[in-house]
Amino acid sequence: MRFAPAVLSLVKGRDFRDLVGCFAMNENGNAALFLDLAGTLVTIDETRSIYHDACGHLKIELLPNVAEKLAPMRDHLMLVVTNQSGINRGWFTMAQVEDAMRELDHKLGDILTGWQICPHVPDDNCACRKPKAGMILELAELYGVDLRNSTMVGDQDVDEQAATAAGVGRFIYAQEFFGWD
Ligand SMILES: [Mg+2]
Ligand SMILES: [Zn+2]
Repeated sequence: MRFAPAVLSLVKGRDFRDLVGCFAMNENGNAALFLDLAGTLVTIDETRSIYHDACGHLKIELLPNVAEKLAPMRDHLMLVVTNQSGINRGWFTMAQVEDAMRELDHKLGDILTGWQICPHVPDDNCACRKPKAGMILELAELYGVDLRNSTMVGDQDVDEQAATAAGVGRFIYAQEFFGWD
């Protein structure tokens, strides 16, 4: 299967094969935890976007229980897939979103394996913007992910739709996964 490449960033250039002994692996590949970003890992404003200032700097503020819940899972493949149409809207740049991702990884204790960022607006008709499956499929190919045995956590229906379209075995809403009341 081919799809238009989204923008891919790998955390620190870490070679995922170093991790192979640490997480569940079977003949189909590795189970992964796919994570949405805004409203799932970090706080959002009233427009459901991550708050950014006039210079395009994004404010990374962890939501409750996120660091505590993810810390024990640090040996699993943890892959963030995020729609960031603010890039193509001119609110901030890809580099600023990548800076925000590195800040997030640092605040989580250096546990993220990688991420993918869709910079497109709906009219761009890309293959990566959720609810499409492009970002998940691309990461799955790169990391040899067994999608059936993988889980996606998100806060919106588009996250569930993207997970379903990609063949991810399980979807859990962030509210439930992180135990928010
Ligand atoms: Mg979200
Ligand atoms: Zn896209």
